[in-house]
Amino acid sequence: MNFLSEEQAAWKQAVERWLERDVGREYIRKCDMERAFPYEAYAKAAKLGFHRLLVPEADGGDGGDLFSYALMCEALSRYGVDFSVAVAGSTFTAMNIALHGTPEQKKRFLDPFMRGEVRFPISMSEPGAGSDVANVQTRAERVGDEYVINGQKLWCSGAANRGAVILMLVRTAKTEDKRNGLSVFIIPERPSYAAAGARRARARSARRLGFGPRGNRAAGRAGARLRAHGGLISQGFYQHGGSR
Ligand SMILES: Cc1cc2nc3c(=O)[nH]c(=O)nc-3n(C[C@H](O)[C@H](O)[C@H](O)COP(=O)(O)OP(=O)(O)OC[C@H]3O[C@@H](n4cnc5c(N)ncnc54)[C@H](O)[C@@H]3O)c2cc1C
Repeated sequence: MNFLSEEQAAWKQAVERWLERDVGREYIRKCDMERAFPYEAYAKAAKLGFHRLLVPEADGGDGGDLFSYALMCEALSRYGVDFSVAVAGSTFTAMNIALHGTPEQKKRFLDPFMRGEVRFPISMSEPGAGSDVANVQTRAERVGDEYVINGQKLWCSGAANRGAVILMLVRTAKTEDKRNGLSVFIIPERPSYAAAGARRARARSARRLGFGPRGNRAAGRAGARLRAHGGLISQGFYQHGGSR
């Protein structure tokens, strides 16, 4: 049964046609074999406006709906879901900035994202916080006008790619209920590290079978001292089921 409207079916077909004509199965196969991020296809997709789809019109996007985004992801997955994640996955993270960011953060990060210059890996998982993501132990503490982040993050898809701006879930308050007191930080490609005290953050690549184009997962210890002005969005993040 085809339950798509004419407009929705035409959108999906347009993305499929673009994939076949301008990207191609061989390119995707090559990225997969070489475990290379599809930078060229990512830039082409941005040029066509794929990255603008869900960003609100007020922030320079197209203000599209989630169903159209899902259709786009399905079409991009034709030759492998990892390609779709590599090209469209950043949108998921970008929405954190679109929904909770300050006007300055939106200008600084969403504009280059929509131009295809920036990618947004999301860093939630830790050795002891996978399915139980509320168990995040990485902590951010305010020191003067900066935040110091300490802890260990794991499995951040795409963290080692060029132009990666990582959104990281960290603990900013001690609370009785571990589902509370979490915040999201924006970590730009070249954060300014503390000269003394904090360990320097390292992202190292981890080889994994079957997940090439998305980019390598990175594991590392963070001891980065970040400027507060660009860093924090949605402070005091309350998970579904948590109480204020
Ligand atoms: C390819 C890949 C890419 C990833 N990319 C990212 C990324 O970009 N960013 C990021 O933050 N994370 C990423 N992750 C991490 C991913 O989110 C975690 O692997 C996932 O949340 C599971 O956590 P875990 O591996 O610690 O397993 P665990 O949580 O330890 O689970 C191990 C097993 O126990 C089961 N289990 C856990 N809890 C329960 C329960 N309460 N009841 C019954 N069974 C349970 C699980 O189903 C599973 O079979 C990635 C992982 C992979 C494999």
